[in-house]
Amino acid sequence: MIVAIILSAVAMTAIVAIRYLLTSGGFALATKWRHPGLYRGLDRQMWRELWWSLASAAIYGVPAGVVAWGWHNHGWTRIYDDVHAFPLWYWPVSVLLFLFAHDTWFYWTHRWMHRPEPFKLAHAVHHASRPPTAWAAMAFHPIEALTGAVVIPLLVFVIPIHVAALCLVLTIMTVMGVTNHMGWEIFPRWMWSGRLGGWLITASHHQRHHERYGCNYGLYFRFWDRLCGTDDGLGNFARSHARAASRAPGGAGARGGADNRRDGRGGAGRAA
Ligand SMILES: [Zn+2]
Ligand SMILES: [Zn+2]
Repeated sequence: MIVAIILSAVAMTAIVAIRYLLTSGGFALATKWRHPGLYRGLDRQMWRELWWSLASAAIYGVPAGVVAWGWHNHGWTRIYDDVHAFPLWYWPVSVLLFLFAHDTWFYWTHRWMHRPEPFKLAHAVHHASRPPTAWAAMAFHPIEALTGAVVIPLLVFVIPIHVAALCLVLTIMTVMGVTNHMGWEIFPRWMWSGRLGGWLITASHHQRHHERYGCNYGLYFRFWDRLCGTDDGLGNFARSHARAASRAPGGAGARGGADNRRDGRGGAGRAA
């Protein structure tokens, strides 16, 4: 039994790691094609992002592997595979419920991680990406990775969800995690401005979090940020990347690294 659980955890880790490499790699290639030179001077940072993300994959894989083993062998969880087990209207509703629950968990844990102590201990790893790239999607300290890793494995015990709806949730999670850090907007304008876009989070919104720290904590929706007064609008890609280029070797502001680190601590202190 123990061997089966370990094998399941290893398999899940491999799946999460490969999913990350393919998705981040794919969007990094898209960046090279659509915005050549956008990640210039960020090679060292991107290696860092890659290694932290692969370490996170192992942490994500363990609870997912245990729950997958229990689902397969003991019928754990409320995941169902007969699409008629619930009314059809429930299928999209379950996706929204998962996204909203995940977003709520993320908003409050993320906001907590901007308090000075947890920031220094854990969340600074994620914010060391200035500006983040497509490889930063899972660049988290193990403590932060753990807070992210338990959400979906716990929710499947609480909210009934069809297996394909769960796959959709995981796909949205992966794609948004990568594209939110990519440094440019891949989605059509209606998704990030206007009536509906004003409630959704894409790269423009999360970029501002990486610029200013003490705002825009959400993951998928701007609901909590708006409700709690932490929404600070959309970021400025051009400014972030100009700053990074000036820090690159040979760039005008190559000595600016220490100043930027100081900014980071100030930002953390300002946070909620
Ligand atoms: Zn981020
Ligand atoms: Zn943050």
